Amino acid sequence: MDTRTEPSRCPYCGQVMDTHSSVGEDIRPKPGDITICINCAEILQLDDKFALQKINAEILKDIQGDLELYRRIQAIQTAIKAAQQGGK
Ligand SMILES: [Zn+2]
Repeated sequence: MDTRTEPSRCPYCGQVMDTHSSVGEDIRPKPGDITICINCAEILQLDDKFALQKINAEILKDIQGDLELYRRIQAIQTAIKAAQQGGK
């Protein structure tokens, strides 16, 4: 399910995003959630106003420590990059 939030810009590539799709369970995004830019595939975090922020090294370490989550993120990143290559 897609959830719409206030539009926010990716701090890496400037892509504006206002829709978030959950992975796995159908849950609404909440502050602090990890998300992935649909344009540059960088890992981002939602702040308390659902604005996109770069994640810090500590959070990245947590993600990499959660093997199942990290695999899912990598699969999404791979899919985004593949879609971009196929779409051009
Ligand atoms: Zn981006």
